[in-house]
Amino acid sequence: MNKNDDDNIEAFSAEEAIQEAEETVNEEAEKIAKSEANKAADLSAALGQAINDAIAKAKNQKIQDSMAAPAQEKPEDSKILNSTEIAPTDQDGNPIPVTIPVALTPNTTVVYTTRLGGVSEGDFAHFNLGGKGGDDPAKVRANREALAKELGAKLSLIKQVHSGDAIDVDEVYTDNSPFGFDASGSVDAMLGATYNPKLSTVDSVDKVNGDVQVLDGDAQVTTKTGIALGMFAADCLPVLLADDEAGVIAAAHCGRLGLQKGVIRATLDMMQEKGADPARIVATLGPCICGDCYEVGSDIADDFDAQFPGTFTLTRFGGPGIDLAAAALQELTKAGISEDHIISSRPRVNAATQYLSEDAELAQLCQEDNEGDPNLHERIGKIRHSMCTLENPLWFSHRRAQLAHKDHEGRMLALIVRR
Ligand SMILES: [Zn+2]
Repeated sequence: MNKNDDDNIEAFSAEEAIQEAEETVNEEAEKIAKSEANKAADLSAALGQAINDAIAKAKNQKIQDSMAAPAQEKPEDSKILNSTEIAPTDQDGNPIPVTIPVALTPNTTVVYTTRLGGVSEGDFAHFNLGGKGGDDPAKVRANREALAKELGAKLSLIKQVHSGDAIDVDEVYTDNSPFGFDASGSVDAMLGATYNPKLSTVDSVDKVNGDVQVLDGDAQVTTKTGIALGMFAADCLPVLLADDEAGVIAAAHCGRLGLQKGVIRATLDMMQEKGADPARIVATLGPCICGDCYEVGSDIADDFDAQFPGTFTLTRFGGPGIDLAAAALQELTKAGISEDHIISSRPRVNAATQYLSEDAELAQLCQEDNEGDPNLHERIGKIRHSMCTLENPLWFSHRRAQLAHKDHEGRMLALIVRR
């Protein structure tokens, strides 16, 4: 329906009414007729607007219905519906991140960043959040600041070392960067303007200007609101957890070693110390390399399978592999998290992937990254597991970059924030 056509029709009717009034009544009557005509025009415009709103709402509902939305869906999830209309940067060159939000509980939101909507270039294009891979620190900082702005929250970042250790963010958080708390050992924080990509080892540096800059760990736990706990990933599995009643959230980085060292158990222990109850904890698993893609060699796969029975896989490349997500689910179940408290992120990710299959920026990345079919439709058509970082071009993948003979790649962030 075209609103202008309606207005024209109405204007014409109003003119007719006025003309008749001129011919048949005196000036007083004409004023009344004009007034009535204006009222009619106002009413009609309002009606037209209401119809347009109803059509827009119905269309939106139809799109949402077609995406098999989960029960947890919240209005903010519809953000992704507009992402193809968003340029990667604004007029001033600031990044506009394309993220995938998942409403985990009534009080918490989980967010997965994608490769889209940032200022990084080359192998880090476009939205790299990792500060240690060799990307230009100024670009990483711009991306992180844009993310914090979009989330309306401060980021909390630590240095992930494939350990089984959780960090108590309530104890260590301090605003030490424009985007929040950076204890990740970013090159930027260490070297500032004298940045040199060859000097990216920062282990020996503990403090800059008196602030702790490096905290080793693979999980974060907090009772704070407005702090987005962020875990870096490029194939490893992020697990996000919340207990609304206790007001406790957590994010864990689950690679093969972290899972074997008990990072999920350590995270849940720290949550319980802060009042969380496994009977109430809700969890979701973020994107990660899938069991069909994660080839590790038979000794490693056997070892992993001995600890997490049934996680041994035969990959599509023909060798033995492991299923990180299956192992994490076993850990959650073992800790008393019930199956119906483990929320699938897949419906949101499927919807985002489907929607972004027409995205010009994603098409450009696929054309330029040499990490698969240069045609976006072809590449998306080959996805068997939308949550798999190696298969889905939405994300950075360490293994995909390796297969393309690259020596580095960017990092996504999986975050959880409580309102
Ligand atoms: Zn896969």
